[in-house]
Amino acid sequence: MPVEEALARLIALAEASPILEREVVKLADADGRVLADALVSTLDLPPWPNSAMDGYALRLADWTGEPLVVSQRIFAGQAPAPMQSGTCARIFTGAPLPAGADCVEMQENVEVQADQRVSFRQSLRVGQNIRAQGQETRAGEQVLAAGMVLGPIELGLAASLGCAELTVLRRPRVAVLSTGDELVEPGLALGPGQIYNSNRRVLCSWLARLECEVVDAGILPDDLEKTRQRLGELKDVDLILSTGGVSVGEADFLGVALREEGDLSLWKLAIKPGKPLTFGHFRGVPVIGLPGNPASTLVTFALLTRPYLLRRLGVADVAPLQFAVPAAFSWTKPGNRREYLRGRLEQGRAVIYPNQSSGVLRSAAWADGLVEVLEGRTLAEGDPVNFIPFSELLG
Ligand code: AMP
Ligand code: MG
Repeated sequence: MPVEEALARLIALAEASPILEREVVKLADADGRVLADALVSTLDLPPWPNSAMDGYALRLADWTGEPLVVSQRIFAGQAPAPMQSGTCARIFTGAPLPAGADCVEMQENVEVQADQRVSFRQSLRVGQNIRAQGQETRAGEQVLAAGMVLGPIELGLAASLGCAELTVLRRPRVAVLSTGDELVEPGLALGPGQIYNSNRRVLCSWLARLECEVVDAGILPDDLEKTRQRLGELKDVDLILSTGGVSVGEADFLGVALREEGDLSLWKLAIKPGKPLTFGHFRGVPVIGLPGNPASTLVTFALLTRPYLLRRLGVADVAPLQFAVPAAFSWTKPGNRREYLRGRLEQGRAVIYPNQSSGVLRSAAWADGLVEVLEGRTLAEGDPVNFIPFSELLG
C-alpha cells in the first residue's frame, strides 16, 4: 500500500471519529492546543492611527517652509489634543496621532531652531510614518481559523485582540503499549535476550509534545490472555497505540484479540523503514499497531499517526512542511518502497546517516529530519530530494 493511500485511509478513519468535546482555557494554558472556534476580532488593531517613529506630527498643508511651533508632546499611552493648525506636535512611537495630523517626520530629519521651532529638511508626503487604524485587523474579521494548532505566535495575536481565554478541543487520550517478551524498562537489569524498551519513551514524550494525555500502559508480554486483559482495561481512551508484534510470521496476539472483539486490517506499507502497520478496533476503541523497530516506530508515528491524531481534532493542515534540497549522496538501487532516510542538512545538501537499519535509533538522533527517496528512483549527487525537518513533526 502506497504511503498516500495509508495516509488517506487513516485520515478518513480520523474524520469518522472526531474529538468534539471542548473546554475554555486561559491563554497561558492554550499553547499547543487546537482552537475550537474561529477567533473573530472585536476591535480594530491598531485601534487608532499612531506614529511609527519618534518624531513630529503635522498637517502637511501647514508646512509652508516656515518653522512650526511645537504645540504638544504625545507619548505612547496618552490621548492627544486635536492638532492646532499652524503647529506641529512632538510624538513618539506608538502614540496616537492627533486628530487633523496626516504626516509624521522622523526626528533625525528635522532641524530644531534655537527658539524651539521645527523645520523640515526633506520633502514630506501625506500618510508617511503613520500606522493606519485597523492595518493589522478590522473588527469582525476572522483572525484565526477553527482547527488550528495554537503556538506562541497565535497566542500573541489573541492577546493583541484582548482575549484572556480561548475555547479549545479537549486533549486526546492515547494509551501507549509496548509489546514484546524481550522488553525491560530502563533502570532494571537486563536478562539474557532482553533489551531496553525505547519505543515507549519515544512515543510517550512525543505524544506529550502533541498535547495528548498519555496513558502509559507499559509492557505487554507476548501472551494472548494478557493482551485481551490489558486491552480491556483501556476503555476510556481515544486511541490505543501499540508497537511491536506486527511483523509477518510472528505470533500476533494483538491481531487475534482485535479479531475476536473488534476488527483489524493489516497493511503492508510501501514505506521503509516500517512496512507492517495494523489498524483496528478493540470493543470500539481505535487501535494503531506500529512496527517495533525503533526507526520504524519513529517514521510511522511521524508520517501516519501524527496526522491521524491531529485530524481527529479537526486540524486541517496535517501535512508537515517539506522542501527539496540537493542530495549529498547517490542512490543507485531503486527500491519498491518509499524510503525515509534519517539525514541532516550540511551546506544546504541532504547528508544521510551511514547506517539506515530500522533498528538503529541513533540514526535519528544524529539527524535533523527525514530525507524522502521515492519508490523506483535512483539519484545522482545533487538531485533534489524532499527533506522533512523533525522540528515540523515533533510539535
Ligand atoms: P516486532 O515488531 O515485535 O517483531 O519487533 C521488531 C523489532 O523491534 C525487534 O527487534 C524488537 O525487539 C524491537 N522492538 C520491539 N518493540 C520495541 C521497543 N518497545 N523498544 C525497542 N525495541 C523494540
Ligand atoms: Mg515483538
